[in-house]
Amino acid sequence: MSCEYRHILLAVDQLHADSEIAFRAKRLAAQNSPCKLSLLHVLDDVAMPDTPYGSRVLLDEESDNVLLERQKGEFTALAHALRIPKQDSWLVWGLPSDEIILTAKRLQVDLIVLGSHGRHGLSLLLGATASRVMHQAECDVLAVRLQNN
Ligand code: AMP
Repeated sequence: MSCEYRHILLAVDQLHADSEIAFRAKRLAAQNSPCKLSLLHVLDDVAMPDTPYGSRVLLDEESDNVLLERQKGEFTALAHALRIPKQDSWLVWGLPSDEIILTAKRLQVDLIVLGSHGRHGLSLLLGATASRVMHQAECDVLAVRLQNN
């Protein structure tokens, strides 16, 4: 059975420590070549400026929000390390599960790659974001099993 993905969305919650998930997404994209890889991080811990919920943060526009600027810097560095171009790197405000599902739909990706758990720990078999995305996404979802993070 052939499994051809044309567009993969990699969702990361930690901007420097998600290498296991990123590695799997990169490898899948290479195995399914030509396959586009988009990167998404949802800002859920930075105070929202006066912008609509779910809107994209413009990476080239500077703000006076120190925390936001730091997150933008880390996100840009991660995208650069993964060789994902700026136009395919999405930094958005909102609720992670909603934004992962919406972005996947908007970009018409056919696979979402995320971790089985995020920074909130390993107490459950599947984290809340991973579980919601797996139940509600309209495309395939790969939850990379993370043992310790
Ligand atoms: P959780 O279910 O919240 O423990 O997280 C599981 C996985 O969902 C993480 O390993 C990430 O791949 C993804 N994820 C969680 N939060 C975010 C976020 N804020 N932005 C992007 N992806 C996220």
